[in-house]
Amino acid sequence: MMYINRITNSPVSSNCFVIHTDNTNSCIIVDPGSEFDSNIIEYLNEKKLVPEYIILTHEHFDHIWSTPLLIQKFKVKVICSNKCGERIIDKKKNMSLFYNQIGFELEKPDLIVKSLDVLIWNSVDFTFLETPGHTDSSISILAENNLLVGDLMIYGHKTVTKLPSGNKIDVINSLKLIYELVKDNTIVVYPGHGDIFELNNTSKENFIYE
Ligand SMILES: [Zn+2]
Repeated sequence: MMYINRITNSPVSSNCFVIHTDNTNSCIIVDPGSEFDSNIIEYLNEKKLVPEYIILTHEHFDHIWSTPLLIQKFKVKVICSNKCGERIIDKKKNMSLFYNQIGFELEKPDLIVKSLDVLIWNSVDFTFLETPGHTDSSISILAENNLLVGDLMIYGHKTVTKLPSGNKIDVINSLKLIYELVKDNTIVVYPGHGDIFELNNTSKENFIYE
């Protein structure tokens, strides 16, 4: 059994997800974007979990901010796309400088992923998909019928494409790719902000993207 728990980051209320399974105490953290890591640490302590990987869906500061603190505390490997990896190390490109006029920078990631790369972790396949649109660096992660999409899909909201490398045509193409995954299945979508939602052949018609 796999569990995906949502922790709301702060001060920007983006979503961080902690993924774990029954059989080990290791976990994967997706988008640890809080300024301080206390929420995450509390959850890890409560569940007795140790992070093995951090996966970043894209470089924006509100999805990556706790990463340096977590690296100090745990032997954890950071995974992201090539372009994301080039931008997390730059406080202008990760947008943190514009948020608080101070900014922060990460180290280079440990692992770069591209479309259809698979990480097998605790007998679960994590398939990475390049899903540009919100940024050209954005990735989604498919694990069983769960899809973590970063800021590509936010329920009830249009995808933000006004930030650097955002592109509406890319959004449409990335959503097409995701709808192909849906086929006749129901996929549970874990977005970068807001509520988790289900996507199937019926509900995908209602999804707003332009
Ligand atoms: Zn973003």
